[in-house]
Amino acid sequence: MRRENTRDFSQCRKCGARILFMRMKSGKSMPVNPQFVNFRKDGGKDRIVLANGEVTSGTIVADLIEADGYGYVSHFATCEYAQTFRRK
Ligand SMILES: [Zn+2]
Repeated sequence: MRRENTRDFSQCRKCGARILFMRMKSGKSMPVNPQFVNFRKDGGKDRIVLANGEVTSGTIVADLIEADGYGYVSHFATCEYAQTFRRK
């Protein structure tokens, strides 16, 4: 029984995707996609959650050579059911 690596993983209740909960600097948990993204620190429109819980703005890039760092994106940014989350 080795479950320690799955501890922080969960599943989106809307779309069923695997998500990871990141502990933010604020103390809140944010669901993010478990895949890393590479991004450029140019103040772009994408919100990137860093491994240390900070949120920064940048542009997600596919090419590692262009990237300044890596992080996670909020699952709500990509979830096809995200609009139902916002209706509160
Ligand atoms: Zn989802």
